[in-house]
Amino acid sequence: MNQNKIRVRFAPSPTGPLHIGGVRTALYNYLFARNSGGKFILRIEDTDQTRFVPGAEEYIIESFKWCGIEFDEGVHIGGPFEPYRQSERKDIYKAYAEQLIASGNAYYAFDTPEELDALRLQYEAEKKTFVYNHEARKFLKNALVLSDAETKKLIESGAAYVIRFKNPEDEIIRMEDLIRGEVVVNTQVLDDKILFKSDGMPTYHLANVVDDHLMEISHVIRGEEWLPSMPLHILLYKAFGWEAPKFAHLPLLLKPDGKGKLSKRDGDRMGFPVFPLQWQDPKSGETSHGYREDGYFPDAFVNMLALLGWNPGDEREIFSLEELAKAFTIERVGKSGSRFDPEKAKWFNHQYLVKKEDAELAQLYIPFLIEKGISADLDYVTQVVKLVKERAHFVYEFWEQSDFFFRAPEVFDEQAVKKRWKQDSYDQIAELKELLSGIENFSSENTEEIVKKWLEEKGYGMGAVLNAFRLIIVGGLRGPHMFDIISLIGQEETLRRLEIGLHELGKKE
Ligand code: GLU
Repeated sequence: MNQNKIRVRFAPSPTGPLHIGGVRTALYNYLFARNSGGKFILRIEDTDQTRFVPGAEEYIIESFKWCGIEFDEGVHIGGPFEPYRQSERKDIYKAYAEQLIASGNAYYAFDTPEELDALRLQYEAEKKTFVYNHEARKFLKNALVLSDAETKKLIESGAAYVIRFKNPEDEIIRMEDLIRGEVVVNTQVLDDKILFKSDGMPTYHLANVVDDHLMEISHVIRGEEWLPSMPLHILLYKAFGWEAPKFAHLPLLLKPDGKGKLSKRDGDRMGFPVFPLQWQDPKSGETSHGYREDGYFPDAFVNMLALLGWNPGDEREIFSLEELAKAFTIERVGKSGSRFDPEKAKWFNHQYLVKKEDAELAQLYIPFLIEKGISADLDYVTQVVKLVKERAHFVYEFWEQSDFFFRAPEVFDEQAVKKRWKQDSYDQIAELKELLSGIENFSSENTEEIVKKWLEEKGYGMGAVLNAFRLIIVGGLRGPHMFDIISLIGQEETLRRLEIGLHELGKKE
């Protein structure tokens, strides 16, 4: 295929927030386009007006902006195949449905929803399932049963009708899926899906195929849930006499235990987001978590998603978007579902966090400090970040790792006091305070050398003294290297905290 003719699309229906499975589908399309020098299109499939949710389209666009996934054409940026929103293309589809009627590949059907419901119930009572298929269509109220004159009369009288696809009766269809290989289906198992609805709108199937053709889509890369629609779509291309695009159906994203599709409920239950951005449901007002608001970096999020179903063929795990585009091929997308691992998602964020410049992280941390009522200059915060970033997955975790750089402990951890404030502690720490007050160069290396020499000379237990020291400076037995801490908070503050600590903890009898 001509490389320049590679055109792929992401075609969401604006029925709510975009699930991360959808983001991954879009990402693979994007990577495929970038890898092949093709074009990537955003088309909004909003022909089902009953499922339309206000704000969903804006949410989708904002999500991709956050991820850094860019489109070449689409509803938000225009392009040569405008419009890219199906509700604005409404008038196009009817003629195509009629074309299929004329060629004998579709038919008018007048059965009312009530009549069909009654049939369904009747079948159920006989433990059967009603399907509007090549058998049923022979005795229902449609143009295949009625005479041409009757059909015409009904339409002219304004009777409600739909247009259904007329499946071939007993044909084997062989289809190629780029991920699954050959898929074979007998048309006998297919139902005569509605292509055009009584409300004057096309269904997903018709609009999707017509638009993919008109927009010259070369590859349809979409979720596995659309695999059952592939035979109909292939038959539609054939009926129109159009060349079908190539298809690739992506495996599902699975729950962490591997049992079934990852759902919003799993996220709520296990405390991780299944949406890229926070979403507030306009009807219920219920808010769902988003990766952005939960502190994930977009590049970490995208990297994590890319590897859920695709692998580079070696052990590498960290990829920028450009590196992914270079390495991505459909052949390396797996056939089986990928388990979502919330811990791995955090791991990715940690990897990106430690790679970022300290000053950049400090800029991100400062708003959290301001919220705590702390104003500190960028340089100081940068040095703090350098000491604690290895211990955090997220910027918001910096505070619990570094609060003591910004304020003296208000309480001393009880367990730690019990364990580390011994009979000798008071005198030893008082002595240490004396020692520290005399040091001129308060750098980490220098204080460490002096204190260690003193410990040795006195024969004091290093662990005993340094832990009691930490307890007073930090408030508990946590934090980075002790001498890094005191050098950063400075001599004056160190001595002040020692003074307070000695007073508060007192001499243990
Ligand atoms: N509108 C469909 C969806 O919401 C698109 C499926 C496809 O890519 O063909 O996922």
